[in-house]
Amino acid sequence: MQFNMIINGNKVDAEDHFNVYNPATEEIIAQCPAATEENLNAAVTAAREAFPAWSKTSDDQRKEKVNALADIISDNMNELAQLITQEQGRPLNGIGFGSFAEVGGSEYWTRCTAELTLPIEIAEETDTHRAEIHRKPLGVVGSITPWNFPLLIAIWHVIPAIRSGNTVVLKPSSFTPLVALRFVELAQEVLPPGVLNIITGEGGMGRLITSHPDIDKIVFTGSTATGKNIMKNASDSLKRLTLELGGNDAAIILPDIDVKENASAIFEAAFINNGQTCAALKRLYVHEDIYEEMCEELTIIANTVTVANGMEEGAQLGPIQNRAQFELVRELVDDAKSSGARILTGGDAPEGIGYFYPVTLVADISDGTRLVDEEPFGPVLPIIKYSDVEDALQRANDNPNGLGGSVWSGNPAQALELAKRLECGTAWINNHASLSPNVPFGGVKQSGVGVEFSTHGLKEFTSIQSIVIPK
Ligand code: NAD
Repeated sequence: MQFNMIINGNKVDAEDHFNVYNPATEEIIAQCPAATEENLNAAVTAAREAFPAWSKTSDDQRKEKVNALADIISDNMNELAQLITQEQGRPLNGIGFGSFAEVGGSEYWTRCTAELTLPIEIAEETDTHRAEIHRKPLGVVGSITPWNFPLLIAIWHVIPAIRSGNTVVLKPSSFTPLVALRFVELAQEVLPPGVLNIITGEGGMGRLITSHPDIDKIVFTGSTATGKNIMKNASDSLKRLTLELGGNDAAIILPDIDVKENASAIFEAAFINNGQTCAALKRLYVHEDIYEEMCEELTIIANTVTVANGMEEGAQLGPIQNRAQFELVRELVDDAKSSGARILTGGDAPEGIGYFYPVTLVADISDGTRLVDEEPFGPVLPIIKYSDVEDALQRANDNPNGLGGSVWSGNPAQALELAKRLECGTAWINNHASLSPNVPFGGVKQSGVGVEFSTHGLKEFTSIQSIVIPK
C-alpha cells in the first residue's frame, strides 16, 4: 500500500520511506514517506499561508466545516476501522473499545467540538469603559500523536485547533501513521488547502517540529520522557504547550463493594485497548476483606478473553502494538515473578508470530516493584492488598504521575471524600477511564500540562486579547 503526506492540499511523497508493520503478523503492511526538513518547512509554510483566511472565517463557517469532517469520518467508518486494526492491532469490535468504537468516538468528538464556541466575555463594565475578553487563534499548531489510539487522539488535537481558527501540521507516530494519513487525505474534500497538513517521519522529525520557529503551539500526547524533551525544545520560541503524558492510575476498592457486580467494569478499565491506554486502571488497591474474592472474580473474567489477530471474528484483545512495548511488559512481569509475586493467570508469552501477550493478573505484589511503580502500558494488572484506606490513598498518590484515579465503594459520600484527595486530573467513582468531549481531561504532576475537551480544552488553542473600549 502506498501512502502520501498531505502538504497544502497536495499528495507528497519522499525519497526515503519507512515500513509500517501489522503487530499481529509482523508483516510489512505499508511504506510511508520519511519526511525531510524541507517537507516540514513546506508544511509549516502552507499552514502559515492558510492561517489569515482560515482565522477570519466566521464561527458558523468553521462549525459547518467541522461537522462536514464528522460526516467524512462516518462515511468512511469501515475503511478507517480496518486501518486501525491492521496497524494498531486492536480488534474491530474488541473489549471496551474496538477499532469501530475508535472511529465512532472520533465522529462523536468531532460533532461535539463543532458545537463549542468561545463568545466574547465582559471582564468589566463601568461608567467610563467596557473591557471585553476576546479569544484569538494562535496560528500554526504542531500536533504529535502516539500509537495507541491513532485516529481518536489525532482528532482530539486537530479538531479543536481548526475549530478555533488555527491551521495544523500533524505528525502521527511512525508505528501507526496510516489511519491519520487517510483521514487527512479525506479531509481535503472540505478544508481549504494548507489548513490541515500531515507529514510522516522517524527519528529527529519530532525535535524539528517542536523547535520550529514558525510553529506557535505544540499539542502532544505521548510519554512523559518525550514530553520533557518537547518542553525543552519548545522553549526557545516560547511555544504554547498542551502535553498529555503518561499515567499510572490507581483504583482504591473499598471493602463495601459488591465484588461480583463490579469485577467486569474493573477488568475493562484495566484492559481497555490491551492496557495500552493512558488513563487505564494500572494499580488496583483492594481491601484485604475482599482481596481473594476480587482476585478470583477477575481471574474468571480474564480466562474467558480471546486474544487473537484483531481481524479475526471473535477476537476480543489483540497483540501489543510493537516489539519494544512487548519486551517491556515481559520484563516487568518477569521482574514481578522474581520478586515472589503470584501470577493468577497469564504471565508467559506464547511462542510464535505476533506480539501477543496473554491477559495477566499479578497478586501478592506491592509498591516498590517495577510493575507497580512504572507504567506497563500493556495487558497486565498488579493487584495490591491493603488494610487501611489512608495507607492505600497515600500509596496511590505516591507516584510522579497524576492522570486519573478512582474510588469504588457502596458509600457515595465516603467515595467522594476520598476521590477529592486523589492527586490526579480526573477522579472517577465506581468507574474508571470513561472520557467525554464535555469533560476536561488532563494530567497533574508529571502526567501533563493543560487539558483537552470542552471549552476549557478549546481555550488552549487561543490567546486572550483584552480590549478596553471607552464609553
Ligand atoms: P512516545 O512519547 O514514544 O511517542 C509519541 C510521539 O512523539 C510519536 O509521534 C513520536 O514519534 C514522537 N516523538 C518521539 N520523540 C520525540 C521528540 N524528541 N520530540 C517530539 N516528538 C517526539 O509515546 P508512545 O510510546 O507513542 O505512546 C505511549 C505513551 O503515551 C504512554 O506513556 C501513554 O501513557 C502516553 N499517552 C498519554 C495519553 C494522555 O492523554 N495523557 C494518551 C495516550 C498515550
